[in-house]
Order: sequence, then C-alpha cells, then structure tokens
Amino acid sequence: MCGIVGYVGGRDACPILLKGLHRLEYRGYDSAGVALVGADGALNVYKCKGKVTDLEHFLEGKDLCGSIGIAHTRWATHGVPNDVNAHPHYSESESIALIHNGIIENYRVLKDALIENGYTFRSSTDSEVLVNLIEYVRRTNDCSLLEAVQQALKQVVGAYAIAIIEKSNPDEIIAARQSSPMVVGLGKDEYFLSSDAASIIEYTEDFVYVNDGEIAVINRHKPLKVVTLDNHESHVDIKKLQLSISQLEKGGYPHFMLKEIYEQPGTLIDCIRGRINADTYEVKLSGVIDNRSKFVDARRIIFVACGTSWHASLIGEHLIESICRIPVEVEYASEFRYRNPIIRKDDIVIAVSQSGETADTLAAVELARKAGAFVFGICNVVGSSIARATDSGAYIHVGPEIGVASTKAFTGQVTVMAMLALAVGREKGTVSEDYYREVSKALLELPATLTEVLEVGGQVKDLAKIFTYAHNFIYLGRGYNYPTALEGALKLKEISYIHAEGYPAAEMKHGPIALIDAEMPTVAIATPDHTYEKTASNIEEIKARGGKIIAVTARGDEHVRKSADYCIEVPVITECLMPIVVSIPLQLLAYYIAVYKGRNVDQPRNLAKSVTVE
Ligand code: GLU
Repeated sequence: MCGIVGYVGGRDACPILLKGLHRLEYRGYDSAGVALVGADGALNVYKCKGKVTDLEHFLEGKDLCGSIGIAHTRWATHGVPNDVNAHPHYSESESIALIHNGIIENYRVLKDALIENGYTFRSSTDSEVLVNLIEYVRRTNDCSLLEAVQQALKQVVGAYAIAIIEKSNPDEIIAARQSSPMVVGLGKDEYFLSSDAASIIEYTEDFVYVNDGEIAVINRHKPLKVVTLDNHESHVDIKKLQLSISQLEKGGYPHFMLKEIYEQPGTLIDCIRGRINADTYEVKLSGVIDNRSKFVDARRIIFVACGTSWHASLIGEHLIESICRIPVEVEYASEFRYRNPIIRKDDIVIAVSQSGETADTLAAVELARKAGAFVFGICNVVGSSIARATDSGAYIHVGPEIGVASTKAFTGQVTVMAMLALAVGREKGTVSEDYYREVSKALLELPATLTEVLEVGGQVKDLAKIFTYAHNFIYLGRGYNYPTALEGALKLKEISYIHAEGYPAAEMKHGPIALIDAEMPTVAIATPDHTYEKTASNIEEIKARGGKIIAVTARGDEHVRKSADYCIEVPVITECLMPIVVSIPLQLLAYYIAVYKGRNVDQPRNLAKSVTVE
C-alpha cells in the first residue's frame, strides 16, 4: 500500500522524490510528504493531506534544497488522514525524520513508555512512536543512528518498511524492512530507495532487495551495506531489472485501467511466450519440470490468495481438479494463516498475488513452508517478496498493473493456472491427448480471441450509460464462470461503489431472488457449457419477477436473447478458458459505469493496489 521513495547522491533530491511519488500514486493513498536535509544542514519536512499534486502546490516557495531526502504517500491505519498524521514524522527534537509503511502493533505500549519518559506526540500515528523511540534510544545510549535503529526495532512488533534521515548526517539514509517491501536502486555515486522498483526504474537497472529483518545503510560516499538487527553483515545481492517506462504511462488512454483492459491480447502473448510450443502444442512450465515429482505425488493442492487472485484461484481449482484429478482447496490467505490449518508434507500450497507483496498471502506462504509443504508462487512482480519466499513458481508476465482494480493480472493468472493444469495433467497422465491439444491450442489463440472480444467495447459503453442509475447489481454464473461472476461484481464494487454480489446462478432461489425487482439489474453469464440450459432457466425466473437482465452470450445465441433485456455477444472457446473471454466485457462494464458516475477509476477511494498490511 502507500509508498516510500528516497534519494541520496549528487542531484537535487526533491524532483526525483516527487516523480517517484507520482509513479506510486496508483497504489492508493490519502496524504503525502517529503523530508530533505538542505545544504545549510536544516532538516525540512513538508507534508499535507491529499494528492501528490496538492503536496507540489504546498511546496511552492519553500526551501527545497538538498541532495538527500525521503518521501512518502500514506494510507492511514492509525489516525485520520490529515496534515499532521501525514509522513514524514519528525522526532521530538526535530533532528530525525522517518517515513513508515505498515503497522506497529505494539505502538500503544511503546508510546506510553515514551510519554512516561517525557515525550509528547504531535500525531495519532503509530509511526511517530517509532521515530521517537529511535531518538530516545540514541539519546539514552549515546549510540549511532544505526545502533539506535537496531535496538529500537528489536522492541517493535509489526510490519514495516522505514526510511530515516538525520540532520547531523546529511550523507546517509537508513532503511529497514519487516514484511513490507523495500528495494535500493544503485546508481553511479547515488542511491535510490523505494517500496516499489517501478518508481525508480528510469534511473537504474541494478537493485538490491532488502529482506525481512535487514537494515540498509545507504551512504553516498560508501558502498551499500546491509546488516541485520544483530549487526551481522548480509551479502549484497544485486539483481538486474528491466522495465520500460512506457509500461508505466497511460499511452493515450484516459485511465490506466482502460489501457490495461485493452492490453490483454498483448499481455497474454507475453504470459504464454516460450511456454507453449506452437507446432506441438506442448506446454512447458519450468516450475513444473523442475519439481515434477512434487506435483505428480501431491495429495492435495491448496490455493492461498486474496481478492481478485482468490477468484482466479477458484478457476484454478476447477482446472486442476478436472485436468489433474488432484483435490484442491481455495483459501482466503487471511483466514488460512490464523486458522491452524492442516498442512501436510505432500500438500502443495500455491500462493497467488499480483504484487507478490500481499501481507496475508506472504504470511500464509511462511506458514506453509514451516509445515513442510512445497510452496509455489503465481505472481506478476518479478523479485517480489512472495516470488522470493516460495520454493518455485511461475510469473504471469503481464507487465506492471497500475490500475487499482485488477484486470490483466486476473486473465494472466487464469492463463498460468491453465498451463499449470495441462503440464501437471500430462505428467500424471490424467488428461486425454485430445483435450490437452484443445486447451493448449485455445491458449495459443487467446490473444486473437481477446482482440475479437474487445470489439464489444462500444456496445458495453452504451449499456453502461443505461445502468448508472442502479444501486445494486447481481452477477450470476455457473461452473467455470461462477468465479467470473464474483470477479465481475468485485470490479463494479471497487471502482463504481455500486453494491454488487456474485452468485452461482442456481443459488438465486435460495435467497437472493427476493432482491429482484425492476431496480435490480442482473448480469448473467450464459455462454454455452454443460449447464447452459439451466442458466437459461434461471434467467427466465429473474425475468418473471421483473428483473432487468444483461446476458453475456455466445454470438448468435437466440435462446437467451428472448428473455434477456440486453445481450453482450462473445466468441466461444473451450469451456475452461471462457472465464478469460467473459471477464473482458465485465471489466469494461465496471469501467464505463464508474466513468459515467464520475469516479476516480484508477485510484478508487479507500483501496490500495498492493495490500501490504493485514
Ligand atoms: N501506520 C502508519 C500510519 O497510519 C503508516 C501507514 C502506511 O503504511 O502508509 O501512518
């Protein structure tokens, strides 16, 4: 969530920090701020509620000198979003400034102890407690800033990525991490710091990922040093990362979300590239090849995920059970980690997360590893915490996803799960040759199929205009498309703030049908599959109760057209991949309704892109 940027080197820090904050804006935040040590030795902190552009206005006319600085976008957890609670936070004597992502769980106890020692607090945040604790330790032990940080962090329970600068040492940033991402970018005689490598990618390709329990000592005159809380020096492992800046920009689209929806034919080419042989239809996933026996002998697969990734996992369950005949469970990572779940050594736990930083999913990964299970990751962000914490995995390779509402990551995740199911099914001998070829051929054709599907954009836009009045929506689907219905409803909720529920179509009669009236539109997924006739009957039942129906159907479907008010026609491919096809018009519907309602589509209220707090 929220963002951290830091710079130390030979250039003016402020423009670099502000540009970095802009690049992190998509993640969702409520206030922003910057701290700089000027040439005159002053430590200046400027911060305010609102967007980075509000901060920029606030900075006009201020002293912005300094070639060392830290900057932050806050997603409030402790204390309302306002100017005072925004980061950076000064220590009481104003000699240290700190930014923090995450939550200090034991802040109350620490705060009370500091108050007893004469400290007063300006903000309601947990983060201010930390900067004062560091100052208190530094003062009472007469130690260096690094030692003070080490000792203070030993008293802290919680999740954090922090960056600290001090008035008396204008050459050094100290940064530490526990369960919240942090990466140092290495330049020539300069360093960049960020919670997300994408925000500093234009300056360097060389990155060092800070691990849990590590502190980076970033001094402009010295090589990067990484130490633990106990002061053991860690190996500095430099990783190359190449991203193109165009992937981080809107490319002529009004919103990142629309760009990302339309990018999907291309992102799936990248996702499939090198993994399916176009001549033989053979699927090769290195994560499966390298761990063949784990997959072949697995007694059970457990998906752990949150949000959209959880919906993709429900489709993964269906794919793996039918193609590999391995029992699958799908768990909310946040429930799994606190439930004392039964995890056996012959279980495979598959962690799914776009960012690879989702706090609950990461904790579930750690739990599964401790229990001895083989853990496989399906992530988008290369080098992310989950990608590094898992035994093996497969990236979805769909490029940076900036829109908070996930679109291309969902289709990428389902695509990877389909390839995984085919690869494992082949190894286990549970999939027929014909079906294997049918699915892998359809995967290869997916980019072209999605290009066709996207032609419904204009029609969906018109439909969206009609339905902006609605306060509630129901989404229905069956089988592979039940999770698609859940995902369609989630998209609408997230960006239009319209209440929407997804249901398996047959569940309607067990309660939700009571909600149906002329004011409650239903989006029904009724593409041809083995429950098509039954879904068609469910649509009739809604019609009979005066409900308005938008149906997603096959091209030329005449049957459902008779009862639906509106039909969005899509091309039909093999049943197990239809969620990828159907999700496109549902993404577009949510997008256009939100636009007509004047919502901030790329940064919906209260949401953050990468949920790094539990
Ligand atoms: N817990 C801190 C606060 O509420 C940091 C939140 C964040 O991660 O931005 O200020």
